[in-house]
Amino acid sequence: MKTIIEPFKIKSVEPIHFTTEDERVGILAVAGYNPFLIHAEDVLIDLLTDSGTAAMSAKQWAGMMEGDESYAGARSFFRFEKAVKDLTGFRHVIPTHQGRAAEKILFSLMGGHGKFIPNNTHFDTTRANVEFSGAEAVDLPTSEGLQTALVADFKGNIDVEKLDAFIRDKGAGSIPLCMLTVTNNSGGGQPVSMKNIRETKEVLKKYNIPLILDACRFAENAFFIKLREDGYAQKTPKEIAQEMFSYADGCTMSAKKDAIVNMGGFIALNDDELSIKARNLLIMTEGFPTYGGLAGRDLEAIAQGLTEVLDEHYLTYRIRSVQYLGEKISQAGVPILQPPGGHAIYLDAKRFLPQIPADQYPGQAIVCELYKAGGIRSVEIGSVMFGKYGENGKLISPPMELVRLAIPRRVYTQSHIDYVVECILEVFARRNSINGYRITYEAPQLRHFTAKFEPL
Ligand SMILES: *Cc1c(COP(=O)(O)O)cnc(C)c1O
Repeated sequence: MKTIIEPFKIKSVEPIHFTTEDERVGILAVAGYNPFLIHAEDVLIDLLTDSGTAAMSAKQWAGMMEGDESYAGARSFFRFEKAVKDLTGFRHVIPTHQGRAAEKILFSLMGGHGKFIPNNTHFDTTRANVEFSGAEAVDLPTSEGLQTALVADFKGNIDVEKLDAFIRDKGAGSIPLCMLTVTNNSGGGQPVSMKNIRETKEVLKKYNIPLILDACRFAENAFFIKLREDGYAQKTPKEIAQEMFSYADGCTMSAKKDAIVNMGGFIALNDDELSIKARNLLIMTEGFPTYGGLAGRDLEAIAQGLTEVLDEHYLTYRIRSVQYLGEKISQAGVPILQPPGGHAIYLDAKRFLPQIPADQYPGQAIVCELYKAGGIRSVEIGSVMFGKYGENGKLISPPMELVRLAIPRRVYTQSHIDYVVECILEVFARRNSINGYRITYEAPQLRHFTAKFEPL
């Protein structure tokens, strides 16, 4: 088989600002060993997130000029609405400025005290919006999904039996909706199978509970179904995505992921009454229902992006380029969460740095070393991000200590990724001499964004 190439030519380029290792040591110290506090200009390869960091196509940029900026009833809105309806089949399409704004509207209307919202795994903003409404966010991943070294096709699945038992235990009346996050971002970008979506819907139907997809990476999920699930090899990614949406009653979406734009989102629903309430809330917090916090040009770019993301050449390249990074480093012995997900590679920091205990933040140590070695920015997803303190002041760690390397869409080439591989292997080779960190400052909530550290 021939090399899978980037399915595009580069028309516009953005120079990378180079730094030396000595300079980076200084930059990191000034940033308190927290890469969130480094200026982006001082980063060579930025793998902090795949959210809003994509390169738009010439057609998307052309759409930006076509954008109709009318306050009400803009042409761009109708193009956007048509694209979302064609894809999802939902009757009501409501634009929002990003995914969490859609979540805020949904849970303001359907959340509340005494309610439970199950999901395969809630993304952090989803969890925050559920909890802010007073409801409880419940993760029901399969046990497979929690084993980092296990290779399986659909580790993003929800545990359908646990879901059924959970509904019987709490009572359907206290569960206003169930979500499925495709792909499962917090669970390692792992896909959810069509069978799992269908079975989830069957369970929910018995209790009359609606299913809402957190659809941020619907196209990557659809392509994994095509590659891995029986009966889907001959279907197009679009047909598969349409079938995924057909089992749901609505979705929330961050267009910053699989709509390949830098800003935007939407909520789409079938329920007429709920949609009226959502639009009324939207007018108060986001904007008029035909722009919802976005410019007309943003709506144009989303409509175009939703088409491009389902192109098979694009998806082949996308999934393969992430897998390529995962393969290169795991073949050299670097422990990663297996198999590679759709948008990111997750280093298993517990196995990478077994000498560093969780309360000395092994993930943060790797993040700092990758920046020093090659100017690569990654993010810790472990005790820094999710750690809590018990009553005795001792750290309570989450089950996994991970470092996420998220790949922006259409931004980096294979040689950029080869460089990332070299830096990871260099850090891995000297892993025995790497030390942990201590937190010197932290905010009471979402501490990972602003915390400061000191090397031990
Ligand atoms: C990014 C993301 C969100 C939130 O979207 P924003 O556009 O960042 O507000 C919600 N769910 C998942 C799975 C995501 O990846």
